[in-house]
Amino acid sequence: MITIIGAGIGGLTLALCLESLRMEYEIFESAKNLEPIGAGILLASNAMQIYKKLGIADKILHAGREIHELNLTDQYLRKLSTIDAYKLSKKHNSSTVAIHRGTLQKILLDSLSSSAIYTGKRLIDLTQQNNTNTLTFDNGEIKVKAMVIGADGVNSVIRKKLFSSAQIIQLNQYCWRGVCDFNIPSSMSNQINEMWGSGARMGIVPINQKEIYWFALTNDNNSHCFPKKFESFDPIVSELIRNTKSENIIYGQITELQNLKKWYKNNICLIGDAAHAMTPNMGQGAGQSIEDAYVLAQLMKEENTMNSFRKFQKIREKRVRNIVNTSRNIGSMAQLESTILRGIRNQLMRMIPNSINERQANEIYQIEI
Ligand SMILES: Cc1cc2nc3c(=O)[nH]c(=O)nc-3n(C[C@H](O)[C@H](O)[C@H](O)COP(=O)(O)OP(=O)(O)OC[C@H]3O[C@@H](n4cnc5c(N)ncnc54)[C@H](O)[C@@H]3O)c2cc1C
Repeated sequence: MITIIGAGIGGLTLALCLESLRMEYEIFESAKNLEPIGAGILLASNAMQIYKKLGIADKILHAGREIHELNLTDQYLRKLSTIDAYKLSKKHNSSTVAIHRGTLQKILLDSLSSSAIYTGKRLIDLTQQNNTNTLTFDNGEIKVKAMVIGADGVNSVIRKKLFSSAQIIQLNQYCWRGVCDFNIPSSMSNQINEMWGSGARMGIVPINQKEIYWFALTNDNNSHCFPKKFESFDPIVSELIRNTKSENIIYGQITELQNLKKWYKNNICLIGDAAHAMTPNMGQGAGQSIEDAYVLAQLMKEENTMNSFRKFQKIREKRVRNIVNTSRNIGSMAQLESTILRGIRNQLMRMIPNSINERQANEIYQIEI
């Protein structure tokens, strides 16, 4: 029996992978109910290739919006660079899709046949003695488990208990995310447009036939600054913000996990954000959790626990590290404030041939699993 802590994207995908391999699992999740919450999410072609293997790619595509073009623009929606995601989708025989997180979660849940998902179970303590793990939950329950997978996200309790030197770093960027019904111009209906202004950027992502997911980042956490910062952007930005009910706006700080050398200890292993929480700039955090889940499940089927965990980190670490670092660098570039530096940056971006951007995206979309 494999015990998974956390029914987020990584935990649910792992459960699906284990089911497909006929391996037994149970999930303990802190939320009282698995209700469809959150904003939107981009599932790049690499993530969708895994979902294709698991037989749910078509459902996701049907419920979301296929993305054909990824554009970086200035604040007036003038293109700085573009990636032809459609061409890459054809090449990898797998689309890039944007979808509401809640819809994705529902598809994952509905695709599982086991009912071994226990909600309202927040893990608060963990002790590990050799190969015995004692898990304490906030309702007072104590469970002794053999193999445990920590899919409990960026603030992982498991990671904090096992690896106290790992740290969550704040990157001084602040993010607002919203979803609203919006009649987007048809030219933008299969595009993601991320607009870079001065110390502020805004992404516009269609996630189905009628809803738009947007994300706005600033270098300033003053909530009054948030809409103000975007007044000089293309008018579609203010329209989107105005059209979004305040209860549909989520605020958070941009963080990254640093200093975690090992992803496992004895018979406990971390996956997803618990192991490598990254900035959202490449839209790859969930994608990497999904890849983790698939690789780990395959290894656990073939190897003993220690070998599977050791091989898992060996296979995954270099790729993930590369994405974490690139994503952080993109974030710093995107949030520049100096007019001179932004001018140089924009000029350079316009000069880089699309083929180079596409080659870089292709490396991310290429999974060797
Ligand atoms: C602003 C923003 C935008 C993003 N956009 C994208 C994107 O477009 N594409 C993309 O690929 N990624 C994106 N990401 C990253 C993505 O959200 C994460 O990488 C992904 O959700 C990680 O999945 P996970 O399963 O590891 O963690 P989570 O999805 O966070 O799931 C963790 C689960 O564990 C549960 N849990 C937590 N603590 C406990 C506990 N103590 N006991 C029991 N259960 C617990 C939680 O309730 C949750 O259900 C974005 C991130 C941010 C911040």
